[in-house]
Amino acid sequence: MQEMYEALGVSRKVYSFGQAVLTGLRERFAAIDETAEYNQAKVLRAMQKNKLSGACFAASTGYGYNDLGREALEAVYADCFHTESALVRPQITCGTHALALALGAVLRPGDELLSPVGAPYDTLEEVIGIRPSPGSLAEYGVTYRQADLKPDGSFDYDAIRAAITPRTKLITIQRSKGYATRPSFSVEAIGRLIAFCKSVKPDVLCMVDNCYGEFVERTEPSDVGADMTVGSLIKNPGGGLASAGGYICGTADCIEACARRLTAPGLGREVGANLGQLPSMYQGFFLAPTVTAGALKGAIFAANIYERLGFACVPDATEPRHDIIQAVTLGSPERMEAFCLGIQAAAPVDSHVTPVPWPMPGYDSDVIMAAGAFVQGSSIELSADGPIRPPYAVYFQGGLTWYHAKTGILMSLQKLYERGLVDLKEI
Ligand SMILES: *Cc1c(COP(=O)(O)O)cnc(C)c1O
Repeated sequence: MQEMYEALGVSRKVYSFGQAVLTGLRERFAAIDETAEYNQAKVLRAMQKNKLSGACFAASTGYGYNDLGREALEAVYADCFHTESALVRPQITCGTHALALALGAVLRPGDELLSPVGAPYDTLEEVIGIRPSPGSLAEYGVTYRQADLKPDGSFDYDAIRAAITPRTKLITIQRSKGYATRPSFSVEAIGRLIAFCKSVKPDVLCMVDNCYGEFVERTEPSDVGADMTVGSLIKNPGGGLASAGGYICGTADCIEACARRLTAPGLGREVGANLGQLPSMYQGFFLAPTVTAGALKGAIFAANIYERLGFACVPDATEPRHDIIQAVTLGSPERMEAFCLGIQAAAPVDSHVTPVPWPMPGYDSDVIMAAGAFVQGSSIELSADGPIRPPYAVYFQGGLTWYHAKTGILMSLQKLYERGLVDLKEI
């Protein structure tokens, strides 16, 4: 084994360090495997219940009328998320699109949108109009309000109650911290928040941005009262195989509204050619519980390695997990570059290229990104990125298999070690 890793560029010293860290993680990995097993059964049962057959994999073109496979896939998602209905389409281009679709589907001029968990994901700022942008909800007369989390990251129930008005139509809850420093929320915590909001205003709709959270736990936000649960197919539920797409699972009324917004009033879910994407969407969903488990193990391994070397990790090495993202505060631009170089060098695609910090739209500092993915931008595949500014944190996620995630983390450590940016002797 050690020779194989040496052939990949991981030195004996780094490999042994990794193995030593791993011995302490057996129990946690076993618990992750059990969650994957539970979720595998959930997906399998949904596929059986909906009588999946070879005919479901046929490509449809044009309008896509009578698309048996598309309808069965949506029924499979609805059954796994325990919702009345689902919209799962390659025409939903990404997570941001799915979220914008869900917001635009139910909000009308004069309505107010509330985020009770602080600022939403960066790309939603223009969707909502927090940063002025043509076509934003603000332009259509939808207002926005936000209740910030308490300093310890918990819900500020008083502020939330005060922010809910007769105009509050929809409440948006982001499960994963994304690139913020707050904690990610458990499904159980999201359930408590939804119950509170509905106790203040029973007819308010609750939407959860489920990006990076699917299959991390045994339940999903739709199991605890979310009217719409939304995500991207180039993250967890696509299992690395889906080439593109997004999903919204929810109540029949909400999903009908989303379908009419995606296509056109009067057309709704009846149209939308699958363009031959269904086999990979089905197969990816089938693999998603185990792929997510591998990514989770990678995140925990990284936290345990880097915490032992003295770097702050969010979540820390022992906390329970609610998504697959791992932040590691490396404290210097040199370390960020070395870390990303290692992730890149471990990739199956583009392993020969060197990631360099670069200005990116929407960021006030250069950003470094490492990814060598089969699917462009896929962040269920091993990737790392971060803005080059204090505290010099990299965000690390994905890995189609645990073994690849492990290799990536060992390579990141290898590059830090080679450049004298960590001291393995301290341990
Ligand atoms: C990735 C992500 C999004 C946006 O998804 P894209 O596919 O990048 O558009 C939204 N919210 C959260 C929490 C995310 O992690």
